[in-house]
Amino acid sequence: MSKEPIRSIKGTQDILPDQSSRWQTLESTIRNTMHTYDYFEIRTPAFENTSLFLHSVGEESDIVSKEMYTWIDQGGENLTLKPELTAPVTRAFIQNNLGGLNPINKLYYIDSLFRRERPQKGRYRQFHQFGVEVFGSEFPEIDVEVISLAMSIFNTLELEGLTLELNSIGSEDCRNNFRTAIKEYLKPNFDKLSETSQKRFKRNPLRILDTKSLEEKTLLKDGPQISDYWTSDDKDHFNEVCELLDKINIKFELSPNLVRGLDYYTRTTFEVTSNLLGAQNAICGGGRYDGLVEQLGGKPTPGIGFAAGMERLLLVNQKSDETIKSQIYVIGLGDSARSLIINIALELRQNNIRTSFDLLRRSIKSQMRDANKLGAKYVIIIGEEELAKNIATIKNLSNSDQEQIPLDSILSHIKSLPLK
Ligand code: AMP
Repeated sequence: MSKEPIRSIKGTQDILPDQSSRWQTLESTIRNTMHTYDYFEIRTPAFENTSLFLHSVGEESDIVSKEMYTWIDQGGENLTLKPELTAPVTRAFIQNNLGGLNPINKLYYIDSLFRRERPQKGRYRQFHQFGVEVFGSEFPEIDVEVISLAMSIFNTLELEGLTLELNSIGSEDCRNNFRTAIKEYLKPNFDKLSETSQKRFKRNPLRILDTKSLEEKTLLKDGPQISDYWTSDDKDHFNEVCELLDKINIKFELSPNLVRGLDYYTRTTFEVTSNLLGAQNAICGGGRYDGLVEQLGGKPTPGIGFAAGMERLLLVNQKSDETIKSQIYVIGLGDSARSLIINIALELRQNNIRTSFDLLRRSIKSQMRDANKLGAKYVIIIGEEELAKNIATIKNLSNSDQEQIPLDSILSHIKSLPLK
């Protein structure tokens, strides 16, 4: 009886060779843009102390309350696979005293994250994000730089149908006052709220503004608005962000209810959505978190960042990718030629020429078929006849032209050919 093969975990995906070149193109677009903005890469461990997320993302958030992969290890430590990157990057920033080395730190990452969500199109349990975290500046210029960096990557990827939504949730005082006001306003209607909003009412009232229910949206319209609770500094900061975005021609929509789910956000919040996605239409979210460094034990330092979901970017990226093709296929017929072509392939590869040869000792016909499948431009054939004369036959697969050249001039000859 054959054994049932072991399958991957629900909500995880294999990225197979026919997809990986799209990932590589996406990753290099991200890196190139990050480098033109002078952002430097940071890599943090796959798991952290669970308390890091409790103290930053917040116990009442969806992530911490129900989505984390958490376990006690053999040494009794409480650990969690990272469900987001702002907290780990902030931890690393504090632990390594990056703020002491530079007054401003512009960091970026490309990484895998883990959340135990209900899988659906565009929502997975292991997924990838790229993003930035900038520590050290409270000024609107950096809010605008971070937003323009995200939009510039999306433009390079030629994504269409995107909307940038923008809001400010004010400083801590503003949020505390607004929280009290919204609770006061909703209290008489508590019984009419959905179960989710009732829970949020008790645990995280700001998040009620995220509601999808039309009735609740209408109710909220007549209620207190967060902008009414901005301090004059909050107002000036937000106005300046909007003006600067206008100046560099970045279109945005004001979205007074955009609060984002995590505890650490302050002032500017933004989200980019795509009209090409269904329910999971957010491709990027971010904002300012001026209190987070201090909250995690560092010196008070303002911060701002965003994270974009890479699986979703690939879902909306219509641009087809050029498949990577082989350049040379070497065929050796007979034992002596077979061992000779290993050397020839090695030499070509050392000269950055993409080269394949047959590993299944197949017939010449099958090898020619294999060469075509790999998209090789030229085939080098060394049979017994060629070997006896110390020559090789080179065949151009696009027009079937053939020529014979001395064995010891293969490399120089191949280098003189148009291989692209
Ligand atoms: P968040 O960290 O929740 O603000 O998410 C930032 C971005 O990551 C979102 O806009 C999505 O594009 C992406 N994202 C979040 N959760 C998932 C998930 N479970 N699967 C795939 N992408 C996700």
